[in-house]
Amino acid sequence: MFGFKKWRRKRLLNKSFSDDQLISLKKNVPYYQHLPAHLQKKLVGLTQIFLDEKRFEGCAGLEITDDIRVSIAAQASILLLGTEDLSYFYEDLRSVLVYPKTYVAKVKQRNNGIFVEEGFEQRHGEAWSHGYVILAWNEVQQGASDIRDGENLVFHEFAHQLDYEYGATDQIEQDYEESHFLSWARIIGSEYQQFLKSIEQNQQTLIDEYGATNPAEFFAVVTELFFEKPKELKSKHPKLYNQLKDFYQQDPAAYFKY
Ligand SMILES: [Zn+2]
Repeated sequence: MFGFKKWRRKRLLNKSFSDDQLISLKKNVPYYQHLPAHLQKKLVGLTQIFLDEKRFEGCAGLEITDDIRVSIAAQASILLLGTEDLSYFYEDLRSVLVYPKTYVAKVKQRNNGIFVEEGFEQRHGEAWSHGYVILAWNEVQQGASDIRDGENLVFHEFAHQLDYEYGATDQIEQDYEESHFLSWARIIGSEYQQFLKSIEQNQQTLIDEYGATNPAEFFAVVTELFFEKPKELKSKHPKLYNQLKDFYQQDPAAYFKY
């Protein structure tokens, strides 16, 4: 059964897009244009796997179009560009639920003595199980349109998905200095603690203050920077950058053309 799945994925990885799909990709995911040719090709293949395996469900009257499918599938697949092993592909994810726009009012909540703005995803976190990612289409479009602002909803939410599946930030909050995941937990943990201090001291930070919510949000927020502001992240937080490079098995600071 499993061998068959991998075989199918290998075939899909070599499948090209139709002309319409390629137009949709270029229109909706400008990140694609900034990738070197071999990664463009790989992204198309990974996107095919995503489209083949994951379901999309329109919510609140939204009709799912090819633009929506291609945009979300391709951006989610950027996180997996470094993978050589096709046995993993967001295994626990079954469906992507898409709302037309953000419909939950923003609220403020106190966390770690810091006020952070909580929006869409946090309110849906309660109903969230590993099988679903919930997105607002207007925010997906906004996140995709500017590939250098360090903000991308799809990168953020799929970083959470990876985190849930791998337990990437589990070790960070408690005893990160003692953790068995030595360099990962120590480095991410100490970067997170330093970041909390900078926020408490009202310092300007490259990392958005939303990352101060908890280690899982920190990981999601720095993932957005890793892909959209890789050079800045590498120069300001080289150790953190290197850990993410290991985790994602890719080096956007080297390949990302801008
Ligand atoms: Zn989040």
